[in-house]
Amino acid sequence: MNSSSTLRPSPPADESTGTALREIPLPPYVTAEDAQFAVRAVVVHAPRRWSGGTVCRNDASPHPCRLHRWGTRVLALRGLRDAEIAALIERGDPAAPVPTPPDARRGPFLTPGV
Ligand SMILES: [Zn+2]
Repeated sequence: MNSSSTLRPSPPADESTGTALREIPLPPYVTAEDAQFAVRAVVVHAPRRWSGGTVCRNDASPHPCRLHRWGTRVLALRGLRDAEIAALIERGDPAAPVPTPPDARRGPFLTPGV
C-alpha cells in the first residue's frame, strides 16, 4: 500500500513539443574541429548520479542536457558508433582524439596496402 512504488520518472515535456526550438543546430558538415568540440561537450557534460536521478555534472540539468545531446549527435554524424561515443565519455578526456570513422580511412591519399 505504498503509493511511492508507482512513481516513475516523467519524460521531459520538451521531448515531444518545441524540441526544434531548443535543440542546438547541427553543422551541415561535421569537420574534425566540430568533432573535437563535440568530444569536449560530451565529456564536460557527462552524466552524474544524483539523488533524484542522473544529471549533467556541468550544469546540473537532467542528463542528457542540450550540449550533451548535441555532442552525441555530431559524433554520430561523424560516423562514430554508440559504443565509441560511450567509451569517450567514460575516458573523460575532453582532448581525446576522435576515432576515425571507417569511411575516412579509405581516403584518396591512402595507397592500398597491396
Ligand atoms: Zn550539460
